[in-house]
Amino acid sequence: MPIYRNATESLSSLSSLSSFLSCCKLCPRNCGANRLSGEQGYCGAPGEIISCRAALHPWEEPCLSGTGGSGTVFFAYCPLQCVYCQNHLISQGKKPPQSNQPPISPKRLVEVFFSLADQGAHNINLVTPTHFVPLIVPALEIAKTQGLSIPIIYNTSSYEHPDTLRMLEGLVDIYLPDLKYYDAKWSRLLSHAPDYFSVACAAIDEMVRQVGPAVFDNAGLLQKGVIIRHLALPSLLSDSKQALKEIARRWYPKVWVSIMRQYTPLHLTDKPEYAFLQEKITNSHYDTLVNYAIDLGIEQGFIQEGEAATESFIPIFDGTGIYK
Ligand code: SF4
Repeated sequence: MPIYRNATESLSSLSSLSSFLSCCKLCPRNCGANRLSGEQGYCGAPGEIISCRAALHPWEEPCLSGTGGSGTVFFAYCPLQCVYCQNHLISQGKKPPQSNQPPISPKRLVEVFFSLADQGAHNINLVTPTHFVPLIVPALEIAKTQGLSIPIIYNTSSYEHPDTLRMLEGLVDIYLPDLKYYDAKWSRLLSHAPDYFSVACAAIDEMVRQVGPAVFDNAGLLQKGVIIRHLALPSLLSDSKQALKEIARRWYPKVWVSIMRQYTPLHLTDKPEYAFLQEKITNSHYDTLVNYAIDLGIEQGFIQEGEAATESFIPIFDGTGIYK
């Protein structure tokens, strides 16, 4: 059983956890940036929490959104920075366009968690939290000590250090990792991370170790476990098949699998090597991938309807739920 510190101890632990930010190696970019003195690493994130939206989200997997919604908390900046990112307005570059919100304290984050729970959220869904983990940990400890009982979701690209994930043991109930690519050719081109596949596999190993197989409540809501997401991308059908094959081989049936078709061509560089990203996922592409997963024996999973691929599914990052 995890042992949760009381609120005072949790806040005092903040200073020791913050030391991770003075020579930041929280993710595999291993920048060593002193974020507490204003240095920016690859992700550009400062040494304080920047979140651009906290709201109920109805479009996660049904076992997460249920009828009340998933309590999403979107963090600004990202260590991976995929060229096609749908949240690019808060994730990309040293100063993403909509990251212009004032920082919030871990104490304010606790209030945000309880506000989402009061609104009926089935869970707290931390979206792209990696670079703020040392500041999120005390917030989670305090919230749990104060009675927050809904599951905590860690929603990540999987470009993670297992050591960073270990700080979350006993605090996170559900991991929601991507497995984006198999071949380094694609992870280098689209996320500037040739080591993505091996890094993501080690990270998912750690997630599965921490929370184990899926547990659902009587209403079909996930309480504990891992759902691995794979986003279908134009021209990457073969790579997607390899990724699904690895999921089946390494972790299935300990995990559930979500095959996503919500890719929307939005934020594209005009470089010719990215021209293929201007297509949407066709029905034939997606059906081939789903059938392949079925052939692999993957039965525990989720698929998306075609209408998921529209801009209206992309949240508005205006500070809702954080400052308003
Ligand atoms: S979290 Fe950001 S600053 Fe820290 S190692 Fe990763 S990219 Fe660099």
